[in-house]
Amino acid sequence: MRSRRACPERSRRACSALIVVWATAAVLGQAAAPAFDSGRAWEHLRQLVVIGPRPAGSAALDQTRKYIKSQLASAGVTVIEQPWDEATPIGKVHMVNLIATIPSARPEGAPRDRIVISGHYDTKLFRDSRFVGANDGGSSAAFLVEMARVLKARRNALTIELLFLDGEEAFCLNWDECSRPGAPDNTYGSRHYVADGKRAGTLAAIKAHILVDMVGDRDLRVKRDLNSTPWLTDIVWAAAKARKLDTYFVPQTTQIEDDHIPFMQAGVPSVDIIDLEYEAWHTPRDTLDAVSAGSLQVVGDVLLAALAPIEARFAKR
Ligand SMILES: [Zn+2]
Repeated sequence: MRSRRACPERSRRACSALIVVWATAAVLGQAAAPAFDSGRAWEHLRQLVVIGPRPAGSAALDQTRKYIKSQLASAGVTVIEQPWDEATPIGKVHMVNLIATIPSARPEGAPRDRIVISGHYDTKLFRDSRFVGANDGGSSAAFLVEMARVLKARRNALTIELLFLDGEEAFCLNWDECSRPGAPDNTYGSRHYVADGKRAGTLAAIKAHILVDMVGDRDLRVKRDLNSTPWLTDIVWAAAKARKLDTYFVPQTTQIEDDHIPFMQAGVPSVDIIDLEYEAWHTPRDTLDAVSAGSLQVVGDVLLAALAPIEARFAKR
């Protein structure tokens, strides 16, 4: 799916009205709000799946990083690596978070307050089957790459950081099977990022953290996560309702353990946008057939609609 750019014959009147809006915005010196393009996101997703299984520490994940970095560079977005070696149940694994920053339009010297939008880009390790994680790992990474392009063109009231997290998946088959007290076998990247931010004293500047995970499910149905921050969850669900996308962002609740938990424990307001009710979850069937560009579009539209009210809460213009 691609976002519609042309004016079809039947909607010429609506398009004319749109052109007037654009012209007015241009006169006022404001660019038309950039839109999320699920066609582009889909192409990133396809490219990631072509790389194959992408578990933490693998050559394929290194190749994935190269792809993400080259796409961010062509969007004009600066990215740095946050590398470290992690002790895991399968031994030492080299991991890397990617941190892309899009500065705000605020004058220099403004506080370094920021909004973090994160997602994991590793896929779960399966030794006995081929797991390409189109949705689980692929959708979040592809989504963030396209979001970088959109937000680079947007006038952001706060700095936006796009955080590609490594090592979300457990190395053992089940989430907590090999976890020990103080050493969970999951969420390695988010725990490393938060620990580093604690040491550097930079976490308080994160005003809101939006996590996306498994946002490509063909049959998208995102429930409110009770482990997330209520006011931030309210903003996202209100944005979905305002855009008549509340058939996808439903009022039912769930409770999710994911990369937002280390942030929540550190006092950073966070919301997890995840559809965990995915028939192909952690199976070899998590392929392109099970995901859709339309679902990425829904989440892209909702997230962009939610940004303004989040910014309004913190930005002093
Ligand atoms: Zn997973």
